[in-house]
Amino acid sequence: MSIYAIVLHGGAVTMQPGELSPEEAAFQRVGLGEALDAGWQILHEGGSALDAVEAAVRCLEENEHFNAGRGSSLSRQGEAELDAAIMDGRTLQAGIITGVKYVKHPISLARALLERGPHVGLSGEGALEFALECGQPLAPPSYFETEKTRRQWLELAQQEAERRAGHDTVGAVALDLNGNLAVATSTGGLEGQRKGRVGDSPVLGGGTYATNDACAVSCTGDGEVIMRGALAHEIYALVKYQRLPLAEACRAALALRDHDLQGDKGCIALDPEGHVAIEFNTNVMRRAWRVGEGEAYIAIFKDE
Ligand code: ASP
Repeated sequence: MSIYAIVLHGGAVTMQPGELSPEEAAFQRVGLGEALDAGWQILHEGGSALDAVEAAVRCLEENEHFNAGRGSSLSRQGEAELDAAIMDGRTLQAGIITGVKYVKHPISLARALLERGPHVGLSGEGALEFALECGQPLAPPSYFETEKTRRQWLELAQQEAERRAGHDTVGAVALDLNGNLAVATSTGGLEGQRKGRVGDSPVLGGGTYATNDACAVSCTGDGEVIMRGALAHEIYALVKYQRLPLAEACRAALALRDHDLQGDKGCIALDPEGHVAIEFNTNVMRRAWRVGEGEAYIAIFKDE
């Protein structure tokens, strides 16, 4: 029997009690629900996993309550520098974009690169030129500066708050009725990150990976730690070569070298049988999933 499924995340992060206001959490739940519907509808109508993950992530990129596209964290210079990656589990074709500015939908730019090639990755100015060539929608810096990201940037810049820089990401994995898996991840990275920083999201095998023969994975958390542990590829390898069930593989990969790869880590994953895995070591992981005609689930806090 054919099955289809979609899983989303809106970032795993460790937060102090009360740091995420009930209003913000409510906005995020609505946003997750809308993105889930956008992706699910495509799968339900027989569309591809690739189209579904792109549509879901575009929805989250438009939503200022998530750190991707419009709501992206600002860099040290106060600019939004965007990273995104998309991968087709059927063909292993992929597109990755790093440090691009002004592009409203970095995930669609990554998709255009996947389609057109010949390169798999483009960064900064080259990515922007490619966006112009493809007619991708652009926006001025003010579009990416929301009240929240500007305030967070000011707090960090003025050292008013003795707090760790925040981070978040959005991602989606999907399985379509033809048995194809796909993944998409998009992020503004870390608050106050250095100009030109590259996180794990656009690193294939780091924060993003999909192959039809094992699983599709999108990660979130401290990018430096995730990249060094090649988290998405580790999950793939545990499923493919150790034949671990998906959730077990995710847990094992997250715990990998925990003594020297400490940090926030989270992942969503799907396998060709439609098994859903969502694992994280944080107290907040915005997440949503739906398998076939089943119920849609949306959750934010660990204990939900
Ligand atoms: N992994 C992202 C990055 O390091 C941030 C996050 O997922 O929270 O850029």
